[in-house]
Amino acid sequence: MNRGDLSRREFIRTATGLALFGSYSNAQAQRDLFPDGNITVFEKRRNVSFKLEDVMPVKYKKFNGTVSLDVYVGETGTECFKLHLMEVTGRIGKFFLDQGVKTDVHFMRRKLHRYTSATSMGIELLSPEAFDKRMSDLHINAKSIDYSGHYGGAQRMAFCRAGKEYTSPTITAKLMTHEILHGFSLMHPDSFEGMEDDGGVMSRAPIEKQTFDSSLPIGQTLSERQVAQLHSFLGKENPYWAFLKANYDSNSLALEIEKASGLRLNARSMNK
Ligand SMILES: [Zn+2]
Repeated sequence: MNRGDLSRREFIRTATGLALFGSYSNAQAQRDLFPDGNITVFEKRRNVSFKLEDVMPVKYKKFNGTVSLDVYVGETGTECFKLHLMEVTGRIGKFFLDQGVKTDVHFMRRKLHRYTSATSMGIELLSPEAFDKRMSDLHINAKSIDYSGHYGGAQRMAFCRAGKEYTSPTITAKLMTHEILHGFSLMHPDSFEGMEDDGGVMSRAPIEKQTFDSSLPIGQTLSERQVAQLHSFLGKENPYWAFLKANYDSNSLALEIEKASGLRLNARSMNK
């Protein structure tokens, strides 16, 4: 490896580190990057709280940017998704707008890759066979997955598996949104003992036991606290840094909250 290769590699690594700090100005970044020809190591945010009230804050600053949602639809065995794709994504967009969040949906021609930006997420809609293969390729324990969707913490990507649950555009939109919202740090409402299922978008109840309100774009909505958590996450406040520290993994996040808040995890709520 020659010197040119090394410095280019270092630059890429540093640039990646910089991407975590969107508020850095270019001039400041240049001074920090090359103060004396050495690369400065950037620290992650110091004060991350895993207390439930800090991960699910009551107060929030409204996020005014746009969320980018990538959608990849597998070629075969995905008719239940393809049939109403525009309506489904329209409903998802309307749902986010109702929470005060603008979205841009992009239809992708290829499988997706890990998402690290606070404001972007991707979802793959696959046949059961393609879904199982994808789980195994990504080293996700497929044995534990016998449901319609999955959020993969290590990749920070969402997946839906074609099946009998996808009976209407509203329900398809709800199931997709549920998995996408896991990628923005939202958990199941009954993640900890003593907390009840709220029948909202993050409910993990079997789909046939859930109720859908036809006046809502995806039949269900979020609690005020979930909306606050979503905006805080997108605005890169504490919920974002806590989730990053938990490797974007819902189960790790729940375990950290359990430790920090003196709560008891509801084991049945994990890994869905
Ligand atoms: Zn879930």
